[in-house]
Amino acid sequence: MNSNEHCDVIVIGGGTAGVIAATQAGRAGAKVLLVEKTGMLGGTTTTGGVNFPGLFHAWGRQVIAGIGWELVTRCVTETGGTLPDFADYHRPHWQLQIRVNRFVYAALCDEAVVDADLDILFHTMLADIKPQRQGCGWQVTLCTKDGLAEWDATVIIDATGDANAAALAGLPIHIPDENQPATLSCQASGYDPADLDIDSINHAFDTEVKAGRLLYTDASWNTTGPNIGRWLTSRGISANHIHHINARNSEGKSRLELESRKSLLRLYRFLRQQAGLQNLVIEQVSPECGVRETATIRGKRTVTVEDYQSGRIWDDAVCYSFYPIDLHKSSGGGLQMEPLAEGVVPTLPRGALLPAGSSNFLVAGRCIASDRLANSALRVQATCMATGQAAGAMAALSASTGVDPAELPMADVYALLREHGAIVPGDTPVFAKSEPSV
Ligand SMILES: Cc1cc2nc3c(=O)[nH]c(=O)nc-3n(C[C@H](O)[C@H](O)[C@H](O)COP(=O)(O)OP(=O)(O)OC[C@H]3O[C@@H](n4cnc5c(N)ncnc54)[C@H](O)[C@@H]3O)c2cc1C
Repeated sequence: MNSNEHCDVIVIGGGTAGVIAATQAGRAGAKVLLVEKTGMLGGTTTTGGVNFPGLFHAWGRQVIAGIGWELVTRCVTETGGTLPDFADYHRPHWQLQIRVNRFVYAALCDEAVVDADLDILFHTMLADIKPQRQGCGWQVTLCTKDGLAEWDATVIIDATGDANAAALAGLPIHIPDENQPATLSCQASGYDPADLDIDSINHAFDTEVKAGRLLYTDASWNTTGPNIGRWLTSRGISANHIHHINARNSEGKSRLELESRKSLLRLYRFLRQQAGLQNLVIEQVSPECGVRETATIRGKRTVTVEDYQSGRIWDDAVCYSFYPIDLHKSSGGGLQMEPLAEGVVPTLPRGALLPAGSSNFLVAGRCIASDRLANSALRVQATCMATGQAAGAMAALSASTGVDPAELPMADVYALLREHGAIVPGDTPVFAKSEPSV
């Protein structure tokens, strides 16, 4: 075992939320270690191939800003892109998401964490985490290429997306009985969709499904019929579903990677036999299959769908969140999509970032405490970035003051977040009903 090193904050997971959490804590002066199991920052935004973060705006006004917004807009500027017209919001919500180049975005994340003076360990996974014998921090065991290494930290941020750190620390998590399907994105070329006879390819597809050689979900989100047109026009981006695998641990992730590539391979073999598709090429496949849902913490507070859809303004709200309920069904196919009522902008409470019974432990990203329907909305990237920044700010404040994140005065949290460009609830004129705190 390598010798003990100490830092103020360890962030486990350098994905959508973790990069922002670590950068915020570093910019606030904390000594931070960021641990990432892959070789690239950005998580689902980069390695998962979901490079369209949203939503930073609600009803024409910006509700999420800060470090995530800074990185996303810098990426758009550096790649010569343009932002959507956020004032024109009477259109499908996905048109207000921001397309980023994955490789530039990942490199900008590298720059941000290096400039914030963090330590970073790629290709390193959390092996164990225990409360320190003396003091109030944590003893963390990491699995590195040199073997196990021990670190001490005052505060932990779990940004694994899967609540892995919370579970290893013995804190309560919730694993749903069923979970949303995953999606393997690719980039196909070598054909012109306008030259294809889609009806005849759908017909051939249907025959293959009925013979048990393909699944409808190999090329669509439908479970009841073929829909090859969308796959071909999107060129394989976010166009399939892999069902019934919970990828919160190595066993589940391994099954998912195998199943998703097997699905793409059988689709590829089929498509290459169709007229106009003989030269189809899979140019790129996301390094990881994109995972929508695995586990959440059981928090000091839990965001329910009623909280979310009513635009509840929590007394410990740390950020806004904005997205329709967007549940990809685990059985029966299709989507449960419910837009928010006009004017509603939900907030998220600090208590949903704090596992029940924990101290000096925060969670950021999609695994915050929430029911399945609320989670189907708040799991999106702009919200994950906002919870990341809130967690990073609270961790830095806790490490410097010795006050547990649950006890930090909200005014101090807000002041630090505002100093680093974040919007905190109340900064934007209230949109919807506020209600008594609990
Ligand atoms: C197919 C698909 C489509 C989506 N569409 C949209 C969309 O249109 N718009 C939108 O905004 N959002 C969308 N989402 C949702 C959104 O992308 C994710 O919910 C969000 O990015 C999750 O962020 P996160 O930080 O919680 O997790 P991640 O971004 O997944 O980051 C977790 C990080 O932790 C690392 N890690 C995990 N475990 C460990 C460990 N044990 N030790 C060390 N490191 C670890 C991972 O490698 C990863 O880098 C979509 C998601 C999917 C899968």
